[in-house]
Formats: sequence, C-alpha cells, structure tokens
Amino acid sequence: MRKSMIAANFKMNKNIDEAITYIKEFSTLVKDVENIDIVIGASPILLYAMKNELKTDKIELSAQNVHWKDSGAFTAETSAKVVKSLGINYTILGHSERRQYFCETDETLNLRVKNALNNDLKIIFCIGETLEEREANKTIEKVSTQLKEGLKEISIGEMKNISIAYEPIWAIGTGVTATPEQAQNTHKEIRTLLKEMFDQEIADSTRILYGGSVKPANVKELMSQEDIDGALVGGASLKPESFIQIVKFN
Ligand code: PEP
Repeated sequence: MRKSMIAANFKMNKNIDEAITYIKEFSTLVKDVENIDIVIGASPILLYAMKNELKTDKIELSAQNVHWKDSGAFTAETSAKVVKSLGINYTILGHSERRQYFCETDETLNLRVKNALNNDLKIIFCIGETLEEREANKTIEKVSTQLKEGLKEISIGEMKNISIAYEPIWAIGTGVTATPEQAQNTHKEIRTLLKEMFDQEIADSTRILYGGSVKPANVKELMSQEDIDGALVGGASLKPESFIQIVKFN
C-alpha cells in the first residue's frame, strides 16, 4: 500500500554543468521505471537550472532545507515559497548535518516543517541517533523526541505530505550500513510512535525511508524489510549509473 521512494541527496556537491549533465543522463535512465517516486535533493542554487532541464515527470526535485518565514531579513536562507515558485515540490528537513553543524534544533525544525507545509511542499523529515546513543540503548528515545518535537501540532491531514527518513548518524557517509534487521527494528518502532502521535492509518501509510551508506549492493536487502519503504542516498547518488541501480533495486 505504500509506494516506494528513492531519494538522492547531493549535499553541497556538483557545479551547474555537472548537475545539468546528471539530469540529462538520469532522465534517460529512468525511462522504463514505473511505480516508484524518485526525488533528487540538490543545492538551492542548482535547482532552477535542473528544473528547466527536466523533461520527465518521473523525477521530482527537492530543496535540502527551507526557512520558517516566506521572506525577510534571513541572509542565505532558502524560502519555501520561492522553492515552490520554481515548480519544486519537495524539501528535505532535519538532515543530521544540519542538526550537527548548523545548530538546527527540534524547535526550529518544527517551524520549518509548518512553513514548508503551508507552501504546499512535501517533506522528507530526517531523524536518527548517534553511535553513543545507540550503544546506550537510546535510539528510540532519540527518534521519539525528534518526531514528537519536530512534528508538533502537525495534523493527520498534513502528515500525508510527510515521509520520514531514518538515518542513523553513524551510518551516514561512513560506509557502515545499519543491518537490515537493525533498520527494520527501528522503522517498526517509528511506525508505533506514529500510531501514538497520530493514528493507525498514518502509521500504516507514512513512508519511512532508510538512509546511511545505501548502495547498489545493499539496497535490495534493505528494501525487502517490511517497514522500509525507500532510501535516502548521499554518496551513491552522485553518479547516475550508481543511483539508477538503487532505483531499480528490484
Ligand atoms: C545522506 O546524506 O542522507 C546519506 C545517507 O548519505 P550516505 O548515503 O552517503 O551515507
């Protein structure tokens, strides 16, 4: 019942020529892909040109963050309203690199979530624990706080526009992937939390992506888990020939 989603996160990579070339090549590669949502998150200065180059409706583009106000004195921030005006329908929010290096908090994220929804953007909302937290058996406590605070006052209706990306921080960009069992166990707990916070229907219908060193070699096993509905992919999304293998995991 949940449509799979495979999302790329380019992070702060690619110049304009590389981004356009990628879109051209990748658009050809997805021609025969059906029944899967493909999203590519890129730096905001690349999105307009990438959108203009996109000649297929099989790929959606995504911002990597948006501010909680539509406009104003917020130097270097990205407006959700402007993102939407480019014809871009998604944003990632709460990526661990934003939380870790740019002082993003659950409170500021909650504001960003609300404004992204007000601007009709779909959200990939990232959560995940550090290695220390996992070793101290605090994974569920951590993701529970991130979900409850980050999605505070979000309605059941609005949840239809939110996917969760569970990304254990110790697995991001490290080459260490959570085992399919580790990921599945946490995804199942996240679904239980969604039921507590919203209802059974939201728990059943919300897509929960896994992120953390996903690559062509491990995607199939991860995606075979009951509660894993997709992947958020950093390093292995940077080359079209690698990302397409992940998209075509079946
Ligand atoms: C990410 O950036 O969200 C990510 C999961 O990166 P990587 O796939 O490189 O671990």
